[in-house]
Amino acid sequence: MTESNKSGFTTSILHSDRQKTIEHGSLHKPIHTSVAFGYKDARELAAVFQGREPGYRYGRQGNPTVSALEDKINRMEDGQSTICFATGMAAIGAVVQGLLRAGDHVVSSSFLFGNTNSLWQTVNGQGTAVSWVDATDVKNVEAAITPATRIVFVETIANPRTQVSDLARIGALCRDRGLVYIVDNTMTSPYLFQPKKVGASLVVNALTKSICGHGNALGGSLTDTGNYDWSQYPHIAQNYKKYPASQWGMAQIRAKALRDFGGTLGPEAAHHIAVGAETMALRIDRECANASALAQMLHADPRVTAVHYPGLESHPQHKLSAELFRAPGGLLSFELRDDIDCFDYLNRLRIAIPASNLGDTRTLVIPVAHTIYYEMGQERRASMGIAESLIRVSVGIEDSEDLLQDFRQALDA
Ligand SMILES: *Cc1c(COP(=O)(O)O)cnc(C)c1O
Repeated sequence: MTESNKSGFTTSILHSDRQKTIEHGSLHKPIHTSVAFGYKDARELAAVFQGREPGYRYGRQGNPTVSALEDKINRMEDGQSTICFATGMAAIGAVVQGLLRAGDHVVSSSFLFGNTNSLWQTVNGQGTAVSWVDATDVKNVEAAITPATRIVFVETIANPRTQVSDLARIGALCRDRGLVYIVDNTMTSPYLFQPKKVGASLVVNALTKSICGHGNALGGSLTDTGNYDWSQYPHIAQNYKKYPASQWGMAQIRAKALRDFGGTLGPEAAHHIAVGAETMALRIDRECANASALAQMLHADPRVTAVHYPGLESHPQHKLSAELFRAPGGLLSFELRDDIDCFDYLNRLRIAIPASNLGDTRTLVIPVAHTIYYEMGQERRASMGIAESLIRVSVGIEDSEDLLQDFRQALDA
């Protein structure tokens, strides 16, 4: 263990780059834009390409600025190794490209980010079967497992309806059955929760959201927690078995998904994300405090018919959320009384901005059925618990009283 693995969350992020020498003593890891890398001689070039010596080969497969961010994310998740990607979806897509073959089966939570749901639908039509289950109860996951199941996929708190997966029990089930357990930690972030502790094999983070935190860069990551024994996995190619078994999964994903499909994170985006991450704990504490206050205010208002936020006692997984997470997150959703038009309501807000994205410093609101969940149709939305009038709020770091006043005046008007 290095020194900073023992220090607190923010100290560790602030000082992680300095665990290795930084060029010219820079306090920030510099932005390296070079696509190619030079070597001492041709033999060293060959040694790097064959993995016998450390070094960078070509910008699509790795870059020093991106590596520094990978180290930072890896520390946050207490992982064994981390790979960054161009977006959160590229990180999830890398699991499909790197690990799944025709004939395999995936069990996924039904309660998902819309584009992840769309990705599983695509995969389901291409020879890999996907079963969607209510993952708030491990029994539904267990009932869906077949001899062909390779992967179980869940979100910690589901975007946008905030259902909390039965995380620890699903982890124990996956361990018993030798399944790769993938947890999308975007909604909680490693500050509120480390999926490694509930047995996750791989952790997904959309770096675009709370980790970058300012809505100014896209990125994604996949962290291997070290919990999964890759020697049990049936589709590791011989090429990657030259490494110790603990590295097989990520070696194959880096080559077969990052290198071959090219969803590479750029160095400038990596820099923005690394700088944003420095204030993650401060921002998230404030977002959670604001979200709690807003959820309580809306919950007490008769014009609001439902508020979905794990911090409320009325939430079905309130207790579970309190046991698992440092705080219940900065995202909530709510439904208005039938006689209030959700578009008119949103248009009366003066501070909260109608926009997609979450985990931004600014409060963002979106009518989900009409936008990000529009394409899937009403029937699928209903099965995910998404009402047609549902408004999602990604709560920002504004001064609490300004925010409460904004949502209140829009109800009063
Ligand atoms: C946004 C999001 C993603 C995808 O991240 P992008 O960077 O937008 O591709 C994946 N999972 C969840 C839960 C998200 O909120």
